[in-house]
Amino acid sequence: MGILEVKGVNKRFGGLQALGDVNLSVAERTVHAIIGPNGAGKSTLLNCLVGKLIPDSGSVMFDGKSVLGRKPHEINQMGISRVFQTPEIFADLTVLENVMIPCFARRDGAFRMHALRSVRSEGGIRDQAEAMLADVSMLEKAGAHAGSLSRGDKRRLEMAMCLVQEPKLLLLDEPTAGMARADTNNTIDLLKEIKDKRPITMCIIEHDMHVVFSLAERITVLAQGTPLIEDTPDNIKGHPKVREAYLGE
Ligand code: ADP
Ligand code: MG
Repeated sequence: MGILEVKGVNKRFGGLQALGDVNLSVAERTVHAIIGPNGAGKSTLLNCLVGKLIPDSGSVMFDGKSVLGRKPHEINQMGISRVFQTPEIFADLTVLENVMIPCFARRDGAFRMHALRSVRSEGGIRDQAEAMLADVSMLEKAGAHAGSLSRGDKRRLEMAMCLVQEPKLLLLDEPTAGMARADTNNTIDLLKEIKDKRPITMCIIEHDMHVVFSLAERITVLAQGTPLIEDTPDNIKGHPKVREAYLGE
């Protein structure tokens, strides 16, 4: 049994079958990549895992419990955190304040915006946020405005905001999209560090095969809303069906 078990998930948007009978099993403490052409249903699948979309049928079990019917913040509290394609940070706050927000949200069980009000007040939470920044090698930037960071550092900050909540499963939707090579490599290194230091499982949607093959232990190829194949990176690389569906050969 994986920490995440998706069984027979279907999702339609009007006449379009975005997901058709999706099965996915993600083993605990592994990095599992989901790849596939544009429009394959990757983001739709992720949205079904975090409660942003509700599948028409099927089941999604996380850590032995169903996530279906739960609100996104409840699923977040179960231990699933998501990193967005564009980092969701508060540009006008400092790096440290940004990391303090999810600490409050976690402690108070509140939404992040509620926590924003009290963000300047608490010493214990400040210590926790500083330790987190040290952990992702960003402590020296604690006082900088988040909006002034490079793209790679914004991603690093967003990761810190997720990790401070101690998720069991981190979901990443194209974390290096639009990044220059240096920032992409920086993100790969960060994800490797995170994986080595913590008992965490990652599910990553990614177009950049360099990123996929640097990180993933298992790969699922999604095509037209249905898993085509699931295998190790080595087996995926040479698979004719993958080349046909994914590389358009
Ligand atoms: P991917 O992330 O693999 O590129 P998506 O999951 O975003 O693919 O989209 C899968 C299909 O579902 C696409 O054809 C897309 O246009 C469609 N789709 C996604 N979200 C919606 C929506 N909210 N309403 C209607 N169609 C959608
Ligand atoms: Mg997408």
